[in-house]
Amino acid sequence: MSIASLAPRADFPLLAANPALHYLDSAATSQKPAAMLDALRHFYETSNANPHRGAYALSALATDAYHDARATIARFVGVADADCLIFTRGTTESMNLVASSWGGAHVGPGDEIVVSAIEHHANFVPWQQLALRTGATLRIVELTSTQTIDLDMLRDVIGARTKIVAITHVSNAVGSITPLQDVVRIVRSRSAAVIVVDGAQAVPHLAVNFDALDIDFYAFSGHKLLGPMGIGVLVGRRKLLEAMPPYQFGGDMIEWVRDADSTWNVLPHKFEAGTPNAADAVALAAAVRYLDGLGMANVRAHEIALLEAAEARVRALPGVTVYGPPAAQRSGVLSFSLADVHPHDLATILDQHGVCIRAGHHCAQPLMRRLGVSATARASFYVYSDGSDVDALVGALTAAQQLFA
Ligand code: PLP
Repeated sequence: MSIASLAPRADFPLLAANPALHYLDSAATSQKPAAMLDALRHFYETSNANPHRGAYALSALATDAYHDARATIARFVGVADADCLIFTRGTTESMNLVASSWGGAHVGPGDEIVVSAIEHHANFVPWQQLALRTGATLRIVELTSTQTIDLDMLRDVIGARTKIVAITHVSNAVGSITPLQDVVRIVRSRSAAVIVVDGAQAVPHLAVNFDALDIDFYAFSGHKLLGPMGIGVLVGRRKLLEAMPPYQFGGDMIEWVRDADSTWNVLPHKFEAGTPNAADAVALAAAVRYLDGLGMANVRAHEIALLEAAEARVRALPGVTVYGPPAAQRSGVLSFSLADVHPHDLATILDQHGVCIRAGHHCAQPLMRRLGVSATARASFYVYSDGSDVDALVGALTAAQQLFA
């Protein structure tokens, strides 16, 4: 099949070194371009010092590199006030930060926290636990028959008691894109709740503009958008962030430490306790520049072409169930099952054909329960994927079916 990759495979050292590999697990983590790896190495070779702490030129260089990385990433996700972009370890830590800090300060008995049934555990368990800790109630919005959030139920659930609405932008398990504008309109018209959005699967694939979304917090992970593992982002509205208590305590996040109490540094430092992960931030900025060079509209068009082609051919196989809405309303992933073959067996057989897919509950057990399955098989595409990956997927699935026939 003749869909070319959007980004040359040669730009990705691991793919270049393994030409027979068909990596279809980018929703779990993306492969890494040399431009990002070079930036990481360049930081350590030319600018390595502890940012913010030294009066000497090398430390200033590290501080500037860290600051520039924040500005680059803020521009990429439409955040005009870059100090409202906090570096974290990833989406998981970002969600825990908001649940612990904003949630701990504002949620109490009788309050309600709204999530959906499609959430990744990272955007489910922190809210479930906050509710258990505080005596609040967790309300779960159910899904339509094609696994998108049921807006009618959302409308019914949101009310004066709703303190937080935490919702994913794109589902990692089935790829559904949440109509965020509709969600925001419903929530704003019925409550004063803060809206927290999990963008882990959205930022790699869709052009995101935080300032235009009219939400309160947005989280994503660097490793899913060509960046390194261990760095992620939380964006929040300045007024909320300034009023929130710190999440962690230590160096960098303080203003004054007296024997009996302390005061806090300004944003973003108040939420970045300890030595910052400057090198990974710099590398993530390089990844973001690489994606910008490809153009996010092209990234989206490329993934739709691959998803549509893959879905048509996978659906044509006997005994296949595909989950989620039509390809044009999905992003990144094709989630499916094959009658009589457990997804784990399928993934093992596909691996023997050089095809890497994910099998399991995709950290979305509430969704799996609603689908009535314990696991699905998931193929996910990115900028380096091409038609040969689809061919290999379909060929390996056919071979697996013959094996189990
Ligand atoms: N939310 C979604 C939708 C995800 O896909 C993931 C990762 O798979 C996460 C949250 C958690 O991201 P991380 O493990 O990088 O913190």
